[in-house]
This record gives sequence, C-alpha cells and structure tokens, in this order.
Amino acid sequence: MRDLLVVATKNKGKLNEIKEITRDLPLNVISMEEAGISEDIDETGSTFEENALIKARAVHGIIGAMVMADDSGLEVDWLNGAPGVHTSRFAGEGASDMDKINKLLGLMKGVPFEKRKARFVCAIAVIMPDGESFTVRGTCEGYICEEPRGKNGFGYDPVFYLEEFGKTMAEIDLDTKNSISHRGKALRLMAEELKRKLKR
Ligand code: IMP
Repeated sequence: MRDLLVVATKNKGKLNEIKEITRDLPLNVISMEEAGISEDIDETGSTFEENALIKARAVHGIIGAMVMADDSGLEVDWLNGAPGVHTSRFAGEGASDMDKINKLLGLMKGVPFEKRKARFVCAIAVIMPDGESFTVRGTCEGYICEEPRGKNGFGYDPVFYLEEFGKTMAEIDLDTKNSISHRGKALRLMAEELKRKLKR
C-alpha cells in the first residue's frame, strides 16, 4: 500500500518537482489543496529548518499523515547572512521579484566581486505519520552580480552568478539548475532519507 505524503505548499512547480524526485518511492504525493487544507501558516522561525518544521507540523496536526514542507532563501555574506529567512518579504509584502533584486543591488553597490559571495539555502522538513521528524538542507554557492542577466528561473536567479558556469542561475536551463540547486540537493537528500525510513 502507498503511504500518503502531503506537501505543505501552494506552489505547483514545487509539487511537481517533489513528485518527480520521489517517483520510485511507494508514496502517493498530494498537495495541501488536494488534502482539503487551505490555512496560511505564519513562518515565525529564525532558521530555515524551524520554518519548514513549523509548516510541516501545522499540516500534520490537521491531517495526521506524512507531511513535507520546505523553506528557502538567500544568504549574502556582505549583509551578514541577510535576507535569510526574510528573503521572500525582503522588499516588503507584495513586492515583485524585480523590486527585491533592486533592493539587493542597492545594498551591494560598490562592493567588489570577491566580497559578493552568497548562497541559496533550502531546508526540508518531513513529519512521519507517527510524528517523528527529520530535516535536510541543500545549499548552492555563488556571487551577487552587479546587474540582472538571463530570463529563466524566478526570484533572485538573474543576479545569482555561478562561477563554475560563468553564467547566472537565470541563464542556465532548468535541468541544469535542478542538478546543482539548493532545492534539488535538499530534495534528493530527503528522498534518500525517506527511502531508508520506508524500508524499516
Ligand atoms: P519560499 O521558500 O518559497 O518561501 O521562498 C523564499 C524566497 O527565496 C523566494 O520568494 C525567492 O525570492 C527566494 N528563492 C528561493 N529559491 C530560489 C531560487 O531557486 N531562485 C531564486 N530565488 C529563490
């Protein structure tokens, strides 16, 4: 019998990625919406892991099934790790990706390349049906470039420069992004850990 895995996200792109990466596991992956849950969950944690656990626990409390949630963002060394857990609200509620990018570039004006180091972080939390939980983290290292380049991806991708490609995250294709991205890495770690747990 397949276990139910409810994904605590309203983002269809994320849901499809998760379905793809867990397709060899005996799981029936559904969204919160498909599970009939529409609550907005406040992200009040001070780490990506805490926020992922808060979202996963909230949904587990409602449905009791296996639940997965993620939280991701950008850490910039020059800004002492900001925007961090505040990445999506960095330029205020309802701001566009371009507003967020412009705010970031404004704060980084005049900072030399070698001091523009940054990383994308993605934490994933899973609550098993019995309430046991685990978290995994994936990171992707890069630099904040001086102006946006590329049309792929979303969020801060056009200003996230990958030294090994000589391109921004918005200039590489989606398959390549998934193979190196924070989310891709975290999802693969999660799938490995789930595989181990489901075998027991
Ligand atoms: P959340 O995990 O969906 O709350 O995302 C947090 C924020 O981090 C997003 O709104 C984006 O601005 C940013 N972010 C997360 N992952 C990526 C990515 O792969 N590329 C660009 N921006 C990202």
